Amino acid sequence: MCMEITDAICSFCGSLCDDLTVKVEDNKIVDVKRACRLGASKMLGHERINSPMIRNENGILEEVSFDSAIDKASQILLHAKRPLLYGWASTSCEAQSKGVLLGEILGAVVDSTASVCHGPTTLGVQEKGLPTASLGQIKNRADLIIFWGCNPVHAHPRHMSRYSGYLPGFFLDRGRQNRKFVTVDVRMTETAAISDEFLQIEQGSDYVVLSALRALVNGKDDLVPDVVCGVSKEDLVRLSGMMRSCRFGAFFFGMGLTQSKGRYKNIDCALSLTNDLNTQTKFVITPLRGHYNVTGFGQVCSWQTGFPAVDLSRGAPYYNPGEMSANDLLMRDEVDASLIVASDPAAHFPNASVRNLAKMPLIQIDPYANATTEIADVVIPTAIVGVETEGTAYRMDGLSLRLRKLVDSDYPSDEEILDKIIKKVSRKGDVC
Ligand code: SF4
Repeated sequence: MCMEITDAICSFCGSLCDDLTVKVEDNKIVDVKRACRLGASKMLGHERINSPMIRNENGILEEVSFDSAIDKASQILLHAKRPLLYGWASTSCEAQSKGVLLGEILGAVVDSTASVCHGPTTLGVQEKGLPTASLGQIKNRADLIIFWGCNPVHAHPRHMSRYSGYLPGFFLDRGRQNRKFVTVDVRMTETAAISDEFLQIEQGSDYVVLSALRALVNGKDDLVPDVVCGVSKEDLVRLSGMMRSCRFGAFFFGMGLTQSKGRYKNIDCALSLTNDLNTQTKFVITPLRGHYNVTGFGQVCSWQTGFPAVDLSRGAPYYNPGEMSANDLLMRDEVDASLIVASDPAAHFPNASVRNLAKMPLIQIDPYANATTEIADVVIPTAIVGVETEGTAYRMDGLSLRLRKLVDSDYPSDEEILDKIIKKVSRKGDVC
């Protein structure tokens, strides 16, 4: 049987493109229209974990039944004193909600990939607030787009064609011709190459350059020297002039700000600059969130505990990044078991963290094999959200979208597996 599904949503990056047309033949996706290469490769399918597995005494992962893997996972978690439940960025809000509940029952730390990505953004927003807008508003209104420390051409390939660049908007009927792009980065990226202006700054100097722009925007030109971290005052004056004279400016930023020297202070300064500009024109700021539902985890965990990541070991929610985030715990070798859902810390954490992660029991729940599979003791494969099972996700601008099931699958969802683990580790009186 052959069918075409329109308005399918891509569950890859934080752009959550919702305009795809997917062709399904005999319960297999055979063609995807409008997706970028990243999204299409996920939808067309690639190597999966075939079966649940448990590592045997010889160190080999051995295929087992789902029941055996869930039993083993539950035993590991029940015996742990300091469990870490990490990941969550590439699964549904419903599964994330189960993860937070499991954390409460176990007294675990529940942390997402945001702690190695836009966690500093959250800290900045907690201090300064977030003067932001939906991507729809930006598409329809923004005549100046600043990309700072991010490269959407590579990381969010359809962002510019759908929201921030080329499409005509309600108030910008000539699309790209109505907009100016400016990229600020430490190197000439693909995004910089198609921008109208590129300011190349020295590595780690974002805070200083942002502060100089703040001074110029606020009329304190005399405070700015002739050259600021590789950028001439003349260029900064021109950029500040563009910012002040635009009708609607949109500032997008990525890990060039969150993961460089200064971290959350960079975001704090960018938010302050946006607030300053709002005394003179309309300006908004939006983090380019990475995974398709990392924003959703922050929402879900905040609804349930009051915090976007949480330590539940004290019987009450506790939040202090720098002390209780996944890498803080792992670096100090405090974790004695971990459950990794929909992420790959073995590939993306520092060596010292991965070494400590690997030496303690590790359970992986994921549709795909990755570096974390190599150090996992229990592996439980699941259905792909947005392809084989439905679920809710939040786009980078906080818009919630319902991802659909496009094909049938024999794999259980993350939510179903977590539900079974919750039942096994619950004691009388636990709310589940
Ligand atoms: S830009 Fe992101 S959400 Fe859109 S199709 Fe590509 S990977 Fe998917």
